[in-house]
Amino acid sequence: MKIFKLHPDMDARHYPLTKEIYLEMTSRMPPYVMLESDGKMRHYAVCPACNNPVQIIGLHQQKVERAIYAKHIPKTIPRLATYRQAAYENCPLAAKSRIQAEKSARKSGNDDLAPQILHIIERHFDRIVRVLQQALGIIISPKLAQALLEDYLAEEGYRYKYASLINIPWMIGYFARAKSLVYCLVKDEVMKKSIAEHEPNVVFSGDKLDKKGKSFLHIDMYFSRHDIRPEGDAITESMDMVIVSHKNGVKKELFRKRIVFDYDSFQYLLNIPEGKGKRREDLLTIAHQILQQAG
Ligand SMILES: [Zn+2]
Repeated sequence: MKIFKLHPDMDARHYPLTKEIYLEMTSRMPPYVMLESDGKMRHYAVCPACNNPVQIIGLHQQKVERAIYAKHIPKTIPRLATYRQAAYENCPLAAKSRIQAEKSARKSGNDDLAPQILHIIERHFDRIVRVLQQALGIIISPKLAQALLEDYLAEEGYRYKYASLINIPWMIGYFARAKSLVYCLVKDEVMKKSIAEHEPNVVFSGDKLDKKGKSFLHIDMYFSRHDIRPEGDAITESMDMVIVSHKNGVKKELFRKRIVFDYDSFQYLLNIPEGKGKRREDLLTIAHQILQQAG
């Protein structure tokens, strides 16, 4: 992986992994930099997705082609992170080969991330919605946000095998049932064009998607194909957003796009200090209420 963090704590931020950033953030101090009993210096950090210890490889390699990366290691690093086998097996960033995940796949063992995922949702639901909205290219109304979260909880998305600390916004979309886009504001111009081209009974007034006349037409979006793909030393996680119309029992695909998870866009918002940045109290209240009800 090409990202790392310094602690398994709830609020720890992650950083892009470069030699400069790693040495700066760790100050070359233990428990990050350790002279081991075999006389070798080793460098450690924490996986941002699963909280397991990782080792930094290639930190002092001179050859440019051998880039620096972090890899999971199956041992506890004292005072840094405890190795948890189940969390490792469930970690998207630990994928060795391409994974085309099944929505029904549940976490093997207890990797203890579920409570932390739910805590992040409660504290940062407005930011989660913002990241998802940007990725989808549609405006997510409070009503839609609520429906997405309710579906996610009903599906126990936080127990999904590849649910991690860094892919929460996209997983909130992924576990939703099909959602109507009628009266929704569509910001993605390519999407708009494709919908209008493929479905003549749709009309846009400004960004707002509407039906022509009183036709029995449904325009829905849904998500599929969560894909985890190792590419060199990095992992690319993505899912498909699909827009379909239904009329008189006939289904037609109007648009499809592959959404690559931009972990940094979420991390950036999580890092805005308390009291700074614009928060959406309406969305935070929704998340708080739904999560309290869910217990
Ligand atoms: Zn991991």
